[in-house]
Order: sequence, then structure tokens, then C-alpha cells
Amino acid sequence: MPYSGELANKASHFDIVKNPDVADFLQACDYLTIPSDKEGEKIAEHFLKVPPLFNIAMPGSIIAFDGSRHESSINDRLPSTKVGYIKVSSILIKLEEFDALKVGHYVDPFKVAKLQDNTTSLTITVPSANIRWQGKETVRDGFRSAVDQYFYGEKTRFKADDPNTSLRTTLFHLAHRRPGSMGTISPNFLKINKCPACGTGPVEVENKPDQQRCPHCQAEIYPTDSLRLWEEISDYQSNLTVITRLMLVVEHLMSMHYIRYLADNDALDTLSQTAFFLDGPLSIFGPSAWLHLAIMRFLAQINARLAKKNLQQLLIMGLQKTGQVYDHVQLIDRYVEPNHIFPITDEYRYQYIFAGRDPAGNGFGFETYYGQDFIYKTNSGRTFILGLPYPFATKLPAGIDFIQAKVDVRRYKELPRVLALINHFETDLYENAVVPIALANKYTAISLVPGGRVLDILTRKGLGYR
Ligand SMILES: [Zn+2]
Repeated sequence: MPYSGELANKASHFDIVKNPDVADFLQACDYLTIPSDKEGEKIAEHFLKVPPLFNIAMPGSIIAFDGSRHESSINDRLPSTKVGYIKVSSILIKLEEFDALKVGHYVDPFKVAKLQDNTTSLTITVPSANIRWQGKETVRDGFRSAVDQYFYGEKTRFKADDPNTSLRTTLFHLAHRRPGSMGTISPNFLKINKCPACGTGPVEVENKPDQQRCPHCQAEIYPTDSLRLWEEISDYQSNLTVITRLMLVVEHLMSMHYIRYLADNDALDTLSQTAFFLDGPLSIFGPSAWLHLAIMRFLAQINARLAKKNLQQLLIMGLQKTGQVYDHVQLIDRYVEPNHIFPITDEYRYQYIFAGRDPAGNGFGFETYYGQDFIYKTNSGRTFILGLPYPFATKLPAGIDFIQAKVDVRRYKELPRVLALINHFETDLYENAVVPIALANKYTAISLVPGGRVLDILTRKGLGYR
């Protein structure tokens, strides 16, 4: 996703606020205001000074992920007939190679661009409004089938001839770890909450190549139906929301996919020496949100295996370049001193970032987040918003107050390594972005102009339009 905070049209924003009806309306609303100097100084008191980061062993490799998506009409005269594209890139950067390009804090952009040789991109095409794929009866059924084929297909496999290295098998490994009755005893099975055709559920499916059918109505069902993305698919409207959700799910699953592959192929050593950079918060929204709990348990189990071998724990971070926390940071940045960090507490978030409280009372992100957000200002004055996986296997750890524990920096044993990595990769080249994410972004972006245009043309060609 683009990472310079694109401001919407400022002029129209002021016109609306000046309108007397709107001004009256705002009188009755609670919303966030820009902090005064006094408030800013109070806010800065929440930040902790980072202790010196000496002799930190850095990982040898970094894998960064980024996704991009686009929904396009297939013809100007058929504007409501649409196809969706998703592209998710992973870029591998060896620290040694990167360091060879560095001169002090300066990085040669042309040399950095050469790192793209280690980029892999996956492109998924899905049917959207008014497109029936492979003779399926509805857009929804075509979408379901396309997603499953993609997850199972050779492109997502580490070894083309081994379906157990597919993204779909990784989904089985995660889904089987779901807490409660939706979990399964073995990763050969997973449960779908309900059959998309008859609504009966849950339905269990096996990790096998054959087409599986609902035991109640005999309709075709797919393991990836468990992601529940199909629930929001519309036959006649834009499906950009679902396409975006799918992109985000794939981004998060891809990192788990690498982790699973390395862990299951006797490469725990390599795994402990690899850092994973994701774009955005460590959370999964929408009907696939259940994945976040499966991911927490999965990561905790991998960490336990690493610990048993006296290896370093997993290094995963999500870097945010847009959103409410990002907007907030723009307002308070000048009050925060360099070399300070703050794990955003729920209290702070509801006071300064969101105008409202989580009605469930379980704390922020209870249904969606698998990681904690931190605001970190480096020694050189660049501010990053990063998410680190919660150091727990569950949101309800026995005898622990999760809301307090998740913001206890002492529990994040990998924090010094993470901060050292950010310091290492921050550069003047990209504003408040670290090199791996910026690169992944660069090689993923389907910009609306001109890249998206190219895709528009490609779609038309593919469907026989000119
Ligand atoms: Zn059924």
C-alpha cells in the first residue's frame, strides 16, 4: 500500500466544516482535537527512554512483505463488470549485501534497486461484479473457487510438486490450532463455520486435492471457505473491500507460510536468523479475524521450539505508514524526544487516538490484533509505528491481566533486536520507512496510474476486449 500519507482534498474539507448545518452537527459530536502544547508535553511523558543498544546480534536475512490490489472494469461501456487483482511481494534482503551498499547513513538508490533480484511476487486474479468464472453460478462461487485454486496452486508452493508446501496447507496448520470447538486434532483437517450453499455448519474438510462436498447438501466446498471472505462478496457491486481483505490475509499468511516451511524443514537455525517485516498492523479484520488467534498460538509454538534449541526467538514486525495511529503520531511527534519508545496502552489509545471505547471491554483489538503497537522515535529523530507479536499464546493467559501485560516492555525479549534493526535500516532514502518495506512496496505497488492502467488494458485483452 502507498506509504506517504495521502491527504484528501483539503479545500472541500474546509468548505464542509464551514457549512452552518455541519457546524451545528459537530457541536453535538465527540471527536479528537489537535493537542495543545501543554497536552503534547503530557503525552510525551508516556514515552520511555531506550537503554543503549550494545552488542545486539542482528539477523542475517530480512524478508519483507507488501501487497497491492486493484479492481478494474473490463470495458468502459461495462463499468459494473469487474475483475480484481492482488499482488503480494516478498523481498529477501541479506544483511551482508545490504551493508555493502551503505556508506554511513547513505544508501545508493541505484544499488538498492538491484536488491529487487530477490523479489518474488504472487498475483491473484479474482472474479468481481458481473463475472462468472469457470461456469460457476454466481460471482461468489467463482471467487471461492479462484481463491482456493490460488492457495493450493503451484505458485504458492515452496516445491512445485509438493502440495504440502502450498499456502493452503499452511492455512490448515493455522486453522487446526484455532481455540475451542473450531480447532481440529490434526492439521490434516480444518473446519468451515458453515457451508456457503446450505448454511449448515461447521463442516470439516480434509487437506487433499480432490473436490470436497458439503455432507448436507452436496455442494462444492473449499478449505479456503474457512476464511469466510465469500460472505461479503456481492454479485453486482464492487468487491474492493473483500479484495483488500484477501490481500491482507495473504500478506499475513505468507509470513506464516515461510515460518512454517523453515520450521518443518529442519531450518530452525535459519528461522532464528531471519526477520520478517510486514506492512501494517499485526491484525486481521473482517470475517477472517479468527486467524489472529491461530497465528498467536502458532507463533508461540514455534518460539517454544526455538527456545528448546537455545535459538533466538522469532523476529516479526509490522510497520504502519497510514491509519489513525499514524495520524496521531504526526500531531505529537514534535513533543517526543529521540531515542524514546511507547507501547500504546488502551487507556492512551482511547483518550488520544480513538474517540470512543471498545464496547466489549476486553481491551483494544481483542477480536483482531495479534501484536502490540509501539511508537518509536530513533536517535536520528525518525518516528516509526511498529507492531510486535504479543508474547502470549492466547488473549486469556492464566493468571495474567492481558491488558496490562501486553504493554509491559520487559515481556518483549526481542525488542532490543527490533530497535537495532530499525536503526540499521532507517535511511534518508525513504521518509520514515525502513528499506525492506520500502522496497517491497516499490515492487508491489499497482499504482492507479500508470500501472493500474496497464492492468486495465491487460484485463480487456484477457477477456477478448481491446
Ligand atoms: Zn451444504
